[in-house]
Amino acid sequence: MNRSLRQADAQVYRIMQNELERQKMTLMLIPSENYASRAVMAAMGSVFTNKYAEGYPYNRYYHGCEFYDELEQLAIDRATELFGVEHANVQLHTGSQANMAAYYALLKPGDKIMALTVATGGHLTHGSPITFSGQFYESHFYGLDPETDRLNYDLILEQVKEVQPQLIIAGYSAYPRIVDFKRFREIADEVGAYLMADIAHICGLVAAEAHPTPVPYADVVTSTTHKTLRGPRGALILCNEQYAEQIDRAVFPGIQAGPLMQIIAAKAVCFKEAQEFGFREYQRQIIRNCQALGQALLAEGFTLVTGGTDNHLLLVDLRNKHISGREAADLMEAAGMVVNKNLIPGDPGPATETSGIRPGTPGLTSRGMKEPEMKMVGQWIARVIHEGRNNPEVLEEVRAQVQELCEAFPIYEDL
Ligand SMILES: *Cc1c(COP(=O)(O)O)cnc(C)c1O
Repeated sequence: MNRSLRQADAQVYRIMQNELERQKMTLMLIPSENYASRAVMAAMGSVFTNKYAEGYPYNRYYHGCEFYDELEQLAIDRATELFGVEHANVQLHTGSQANMAAYYALLKPGDKIMALTVATGGHLTHGSPITFSGQFYESHFYGLDPETDRLNYDLILEQVKEVQPQLIIAGYSAYPRIVDFKRFREIADEVGAYLMADIAHICGLVAAEAHPTPVPYADVVTSTTHKTLRGPRGALILCNEQYAEQIDRAVFPGIQAGPLMQIIAAKAVCFKEAQEFGFREYQRQIIRNCQALGQALLAEGFTLVTGGTDNHLLLVDLRNKHISGREAADLMEAAGMVVNKNLIPGDPGPATETSGIRPGTPGLTSRGMKEPEMKMVGQWIARVIHEGRNNPEVLEEVRAQVQELCEAFPIYEDL
């Protein structure tokens, strides 16, 4: 009971030390990842992991929950205040389960849902046939404007009118532009559909008012807490009183049993951090950094889907560079820059190869980097993709520069 991890399990300890070193010495450009604070991690690794607390605050199926009631109520109160919404459910284990619970609360099996296709930036849980969402519900998809690669609300309205879905989903994993949730509300109202906003990626931007909030328009808002919001791995659902009971029952006992109270503790911490002034500035810097990285890539002859970005990610179309997303990401990883390959609109390639990459700036911004560093990173990405093929010296040179930058911007000071 009292041994440290190092004493109890040398193998896991060693792997963890290696992972810490990897995080310290690489540039993390994946827009869905971030570095949780020491405080958030401390809450996750706490005694709150030891208890069952099925139910909701002050209404539990287990005894001994007095501090769990206080804790979860604190998390709920902070979430509702942060997002300006009447109700929050903070028990969701993941973003996928948040979506599952939202559908379960609002829909019957076989109802029609409508979202953006995965191939153009939607999420698997938005109706993909390889997930529950495409098997329990009749899934339909709207597309992007073929000219601009942006959401075209007139076109979406036409497609929605044809399908007559019960639920419309607005929320994306690879869309670099502002989403007009008000327009989505109007579209949903045209056919009497529910509107669900999935803000998994942009949650931190929304919390900091660096992206317009869906709260006044969506019936239900789902989100992860570990992406731009920079909290623990987990999720939440926001809604107004009208749907509060339905949502809570769908989460527990509908699809989950015991909540992860140590994660709820960490969510409470992250909501507090997100209310601090520095967080608003952090989110705005993420966007400025992303735009600076985009400029640097444009200057090197890269093509950006939609020409740029309004948020925390870029979608880079590599077709003019005659390299696949997979190969570009492999070269970048060899040089210490970790990025996702990603399908681009109209991508001919399979999802395992792709014609694009999806770099984002939440992680670099958490390390304190600003526009000048983004310019350097953009140039390194260009060098690796232009010259790195079959050229280990170039990869090694860039890797050394990357490591120098990592040392100048440490993640955790005393880890
Ligand atoms: C990341 C993401 C999710 C799912 O999150 P998990 O926690 O990985 O299940 C859902 N929706 C969108 C739009 C996402 O980007």
